[in-house]
Amino acid sequence: MAAQHVVGIIGGAVAGSEAAALVAERGALAVVIEQNHRPYGKIEDGLPRWHSALRDKEYGRIDENLGRDNVLFVPGTAVGRDVGWDELTAELGLNAIILANGAWRDRHITSVEGIDRFEGKGLVYQNQFVYWFNHYHEAGYDGPRFEVSDGAVVIGGGLASIDVVKIINLELYARALRERGVEIDVVELEHKGIAETLEENGIAQGDLGLKGVTLFYRRRAEDMPLATTDDPKPTPEQRAKLEKVRLKILDKVLRKYLVNFEGQTVATGYHEENGRLVGLEFHRTALEGRDVTIVPGSAFTVHTDLVVSSIGSIPEPIPGVAMRGELYGFASWDTGELDRSRGVFGLGNVLTGKGNIKDSRKNARDITGRILDHELGLSGAGATSEAVHAEARGEAEAVVAEALARPALDEAAVERVRAWVRRRWEAVGYGGDYAAWMDRHRPG
Ligand SMILES: Cc1cc2nc3c(=O)[nH]c(=O)nc-3n(C[C@H](O)[C@H](O)[C@H](O)COP(=O)(O)OP(=O)(O)OC[C@H]3O[C@@H](n4cnc5c(N)ncnc54)[C@H](O)[C@@H]3O)c2cc1C
Repeated sequence: MAAQHVVGIIGGAVAGSEAAALVAERGALAVVIEQNHRPYGKIEDGLPRWHSALRDKEYGRIDENLGRDNVLFVPGTAVGRDVGWDELTAELGLNAIILANGAWRDRHITSVEGIDRFEGKGLVYQNQFVYWFNHYHEAGYDGPRFEVSDGAVVIGGGLASIDVVKIINLELYARALRERGVEIDVVELEHKGIAETLEENGIAQGDLGLKGVTLFYRRRAEDMPLATTDDPKPTPEQRAKLEKVRLKILDKVLRKYLVNFEGQTVATGYHEENGRLVGLEFHRTALEGRDVTIVPGSAFTVHTDLVVSSIGSIPEPIPGVAMRGELYGFASWDTGELDRSRGVFGLGNVLTGKGNIKDSRKNARDITGRILDHELGLSGAGATSEAVHAEARGEAEAVVAEALARPALDEAAVERVRAWVRRRWEAVGYGGDYAAWMDRHRPG
C-alpha cells in the first residue's frame, strides 16, 4: 500500500455516488458513508414510485458508481448518530469531506402558529408522506402509515407538491374504483390518468361522490415554480411564455388527476377537535412584486381530516456542522465550500435553499423536464437523467480537484482509515461486497 488521497463522502445517492466515482477515477480512495442500507436517497424515497423506468436507470448508475474499485461503501452509518463529526473531521485526517446528504427535513409551516402539535394527528409533512407511498406495499414495511381521506388539503406550490396531490387522488380514486369492483393499481392509474380511467369504465366523477384533493398556493397559478428559465432577468416575452408553460402544466395535472386548486391563499389558523386537526383557516392574498400580503377580512375555513405540507425540504442538521439559519453555513453557495481549511464541501441537494444561483435554476429546469416529459410528452427522460448526473459530476469536479491538491495521506494514515471502515462494516454486517449486500437488501 502506498500514500493515497482519501475523500470522505456523506450520502451515497446521485451526488455522493458521482463524487465517489470521480474520486476513484482519479486514483484516490472514496469512503462513502450512507445512513441507510440502500444508497438511493431521493431516487428511492422522494421520486414517486410510478417513475419506475427512471428509478431503475438511476439505481443502475448509482450501483455502477459505488461498486467500483477504490470506493469503500459504508452502509447503515449515519453521521451525527453512528459517527461523530469530530471523529470524521479530526481523527481520520481525510483530504476532504463532501456533504452529499441531501435535504430531508421538511420546511415547517410558519404562517399558523402551533400547528406542528398536530403532526401525526391530521398534519403530515411531505417527505414522510412520499416515503410511505413509495414503500407501504413492501413486505416487512414498518414505517409510518397514513390514511388518505377525501377533501385533503395540500399546502405547497412546487414540483413536489404536484407529486403529493397526485398521490392523494390516486390513492383515493383507486380505493373508490376497487369498491366498485374495478381493480386498478395506483401506478397504472397514474399512467392512464384518473379522468380517462373513469371514462373508460363508464363512471362519472359525480357518481363516486368524491371531492378530491385541493392544492393551496399563496401566489397565482402562473407563478408556480413548475417551469423556470435560465435567464435571471427574463424579458416580458420570456416571462409570458414561462407563465403560459406553468399554466399548461398545472392545467394538465388538474384535469388528468381531478385535482382542485386554490391560488392566492395562505393558511392562517386551525380548527381542532379532540386533539386532532379538523380544518384550516385561510386568507386570500394580495401580490405586489415579490411581496405577498393578507387581504383583511378574507378569512374562510376548509374542513379536512388530512393536511399535507409540501413547502420545501432543507438539510438535516448534523451536530458539529455550522448552520446559518435553517441551512448549512456555506461560505460560498457557488462552490459549496463550508470550511475550506478542513476541506469540507457540500454537493447536490444539501445546497437546496440557496435560492437563485445558476445551478439551482439548472436543476429545477432538469426536474421540470421530467414533469414535462411525463405530463405533456414534451421532452426525453433520458436527457434529463443525463443532465442531473452531469451536473452532479460537474459540481464534484472542483471539489475533488481541491482535495487532490492537498498532500496525500501516508501509508499508515490510509491504513487507519481502512481499519475504521472495517470496524463499521463489522458493526453493520457488511462484507465489503457491494453487489452481494444490495442483493440482501432488496425490498420485498
Ligand atoms: C431526472 C431526475 C428527476 C428527478 N426528479 C425529482 C423530483 O421531482 N422530486 C424529487 O424529490 N427528486 C427528484 N429527483 C431525485 C433528486 O432530487 C435528485 O437525485 C438530486 O440530485 C438529489 O440527490 P442528492 O444525492 O443530492 O441527495 P439525496 O438523493 O437526498 O441523497 C442523500 C443521501 O444521503 C444520505 N444521508 C442523509 N443524511 C445522512 C447522514 N447524516 N449520514 C449518512 N448518510 C446520510 C441519505 O440516506 C441519502 O441516501 C430526480 C432525479 C433525476 C435523476
